[in-house]
Amino acid sequence: MPHYDGRPHVLILGGNFAGLACAQKVRQYLGGKARITVIDRKSYLLFIPNIPADVFEDRNPALHQRMDLVPILAKDDIDFIHGEVTAVDIAARNVTFRPAERGGAEDHVEHYDYVIFALGARLAYDRIEGFAEHGHTVSDLYHGEKLRRYLNTRYAGGPIAIGSARFHQGDGADGLEPYPGGSIPRALAACEGPPVEVMMSMATWLKDRKLGGPENVTVFTPAPMIAEDAGEDVVKQLLTLATKMGFNYWNNTQDITRLTADAIEFADGRTLPAEVKIIFPDWVPHDFVKGLPVSDSEGFIKTDLLMRNPDHPEVFACGDCAAVTVPKLGAIGHQQSDIIGLQLGKIFGAVEAEKADVPLKPEVLCIGDMGDGKAFWIHSNSWFGGDRQILKMGRVPYFLKMRYRDMFFAADGKVPAWGLDAAALIAEGH
Ligand SMILES: Cc1cc2nc3c(=O)[nH]c(=O)nc-3n(C[C@H](O)[C@H](O)[C@H](O)COP(=O)(O)OP(=O)(O)OC[C@H]3O[C@@H](n4cnc5c(N)ncnc54)[C@H](O)[C@@H]3O)c2cc1C
Repeated sequence: MPHYDGRPHVLILGGNFAGLACAQKVRQYLGGKARITVIDRKSYLLFIPNIPADVFEDRNPALHQRMDLVPILAKDDIDFIHGEVTAVDIAARNVTFRPAERGGAEDHVEHYDYVIFALGARLAYDRIEGFAEHGHTVSDLYHGEKLRRYLNTRYAGGPIAIGSARFHQGDGADGLEPYPGGSIPRALAACEGPPVEVMMSMATWLKDRKLGGPENVTVFTPAPMIAEDAGEDVVKQLLTLATKMGFNYWNNTQDITRLTADAIEFADGRTLPAEVKIIFPDWVPHDFVKGLPVSDSEGFIKTDLLMRNPDHPEVFACGDCAAVTVPKLGAIGHQQSDIIGLQLGKIFGAVEAEKADVPLKPEVLCIGDMGDGKAFWIHSNSWFGGDRQILKMGRVPYFLKMRYRDMFFAADGKVPAWGLDAAALIAEGH
C-alpha cells in the first residue's frame, strides 16, 4: 500500500487515457515534489478507439487493446490502487474506495491535497430497453468480441443499423469561451466519430464477404446532423460521399426508445427495421459524482478552461467526466492532461504562470477506420469557434491509426507532442 511520506498527495481517480496522461504529466512537471496515486477498478489501459478495427478485421480485441498499467506507472514512481471508488468527500478531501480484485472487500479512505477526476462516464446501455437481448456495440472488449462472433457465425444477411442514443449534457460548460466569441456548445450525441467509422467498416465487411454493401446499412443520429462537432463542411463532405456510396441516413431521431428483435424504435415515432443494431448510448456520469459540490446539473465535473473547479481549486477534471469535454473524445482529454500538469506545476512553483495559464482550445481529432486498409482523418475546431475543418481519407490515415496505437504502447502512453504533430503533418499534407 502507498504510505504517507510527508509530500503533498495528488490523487487521480481513473487510469485510462485521461488518468494515465494526467499522472505522467503531473510527474513530468512536478518532479519529486508530490506523491502521486492512481486508483482504477481495472489494472490495464483499454485502447478503445482500435476495438472496431479488430472486430471488422476478425481479431479478438482482448488480445490487442490492453496495456498493463502498474509497471508503467511504477517507472515514474506513481502508486497504483486497484480499487473501485465509491465516494468523494470534497470538504474533507477524502476518497472512499474498495479493493477491486476480489468480491467482498472492505472500504478504505485515501486523503488528498489535490484530486483529479478522470473517471470517464458510464456508457448507459442498461438504460436502453432491449439492448441486452438485441443490441451490439464496440466500446469495450466484451461487446466487441460478441459482435465479431455474431457477424462471423450468425449474421443472416438482414439490414444493419448504426447510431447513437441521445446524450444529456449538463450545464457545466455553458458560457465558457474557448475561442474569442466561441463557446462549448450543447451536443445531442456524446461521440459520433465511432458510428461513422463503424458504418464505413461494416460496408467493407459486407462487400468482402459478398453479402451486400452500403445499401444494407443505415446510420442514424438524434441530432439534426451526424458528428456535428466535426464541423459543417466536413460533415457535408462525408454525407455526400456516404449518399453516393449508397448508405441510408436518418437524422433527428431524438433518442432510442427500445430495441426489438428486428427493429429500433425511436422517440420521434419512427421504426427502423434492423437485424444488427450497433448502438452508442448516452454517456452518463457515475452515480457517486452526482450531487457533489463540484458537479454540474447532470454530474459532470465543473471546471474552467484551465481544468480547475472554480469553487474548489484543489479539484481538477480531465477527459470524458469533465463538463467541458464535449464531444467525449480522448484527444480532448489528452489536451486537458497537459493543462493540469502545467497548473499543478505552477502551484508547486515548478512552472511559470505565463507557461501554465494557457486555457483549453479544444480540437476534434478523430481517425476512423473505413475497412479495406483505409481510414478518415478529421481535424477540426470550428464547432468551438475556431477556423479549422480538415477531412482526409485514404491509406495514410489508416496507417496513422494503427501506428498511433503501437507508438502509444511502445512509449508507455507518453505520446510525445511531436507524435500528434507529425501525424497531422502526414495526414493533412502540409
Ligand atoms: C468505439 C469508440 C471509438 C473511439 N474513437 C476515438 C477516436 O478515434 N479519437 C478520440 O479522441 N476518441 C475516441 N473515442 C472516445 C474515447 O474512447 C474516450 O473519449 C476516452 O476513452 C475517454 O478517456 P477517459 O480516460 O476520460 O475515460 P475512460 O476511457 O472511460 O476511462 C475511465 C477510467 O476510469 C475508471 N473508472 C470508472 N469508474 C471508476 C470507479 N468508480 N472506480 C475506479 N475506477 C473507475 C475506468 O475503469 C477507466 O479506466 C472513441 C470511443 C469509442 C467508444
